[in-house]
Amino acid sequence: MLNPFEKIKIPPEVEDFIKSYINKLPSIGGTTVKDREIRRIKSLEDSLSRYTDFINTFPRIDKLHPFYQEMVKIASGGDVDKLKMCLGAINRAVLLSRKITRQYISLIRKNPEEEANKLMRQCVGRVSSILRQRSECVSWSIKVAKTLRKLNAIDPSLPTIIIAGAPNVGKSTLVGKISSAKPEVASYPFTTKEIHVGHIDMRVYKVQVIDTPGILDRPMSKRNNIELQAINAIKNLEGIILFIFDVSKTSLYGSKEQIDLYKEVKSLGKKVIPVLNKIDEKDENLYTEIKSETNAQFEISAEKGEGIGELLNYVLSLIKNEIGNKILD
Ligand code: GDP
Repeated sequence: MLNPFEKIKIPPEVEDFIKSYINKLPSIGGTTVKDREIRRIKSLEDSLSRYTDFINTFPRIDKLHPFYQEMVKIASGGDVDKLKMCLGAINRAVLLSRKITRQYISLIRKNPEEEANKLMRQCVGRVSSILRQRSECVSWSIKVAKTLRKLNAIDPSLPTIIIAGAPNVGKSTLVGKISSAKPEVASYPFTTKEIHVGHIDMRVYKVQVIDTPGILDRPMSKRNNIELQAINAIKNLEGIILFIFDVSKTSLYGSKEQIDLYKEVKSLGKKVIPVLNKIDEKDENLYTEIKSETNAQFEISAEKGEGIGELLNYVLSLIKNEIGNKILD
């Protein structure tokens, strides 16, 4: 699925729009003075389509995939209503501006030629002031749209293997190991860390693999609003979560911290498979405590590639049964 925000046509800031129009004015001529001033106004009217295009190419928020609706929430700082209000206000400003340009064109036609230039300037002044009243909205909506346009690495239409676990447990290493191509490194506004997005090419469909640094790696109580929204977004992906435990001697986290986090991730209501990683440097106590608590069936070394094949076969068969059919329907 194409990122629905990619096709948004970003308009200029209001001041840039006005400046560039005014700079263009001397180059617009005509057969008579009236004709010239009418052409100048028509050129203004045409340029306003930069804003209409912006509104028309901005996807209808209520119709978006829930994952993208969460992205809009995050990109707009939680104020989707402000975004809707701004888009509406820009639209109305353009409609009003168009009405004014048409009125002035007919005024120029009706009035003596000496009046034409003054009327054109009046028209530009009025349209500029209407647009300027919306300049804050324009600026802010452009910022939101630019953020949204960049979010094209995660595709919510694909079945997804979500790799969760505390920091440094081997999540991104695993994404690299199970993806068929080099994972893409993507920035999302909901985490300061980079997300790795890989793909596995099945014959009929693709499976997406993502890690979740800064999202599913800390207790819920420590999360800010944006991170909680990020979790909502992740919940909306069709997929299975692999929860990675570090059972090595060099683990940064003890068994309790990792198990508590695992329980929280399980409470999201998605299928979660516990996986013991760094088995090549296993710490017996950590290993036994985590294994007995979670009953984890998979023991791997993401770095050395051990146990990955069995894990992947299992996950892909689950995806095929649980998700693939639904997506292929
Ligand atoms: P993330 O923060 O969870 O994404 O963890 P990384 O994938 O960045 O891995 C953190 C560190 O653990 C890196 O130095 C990896 O090389 C190392 N690592 C990952 N998997 C294994 C493993 O199976 N065995 C060992 N010994 N080290 C690993």
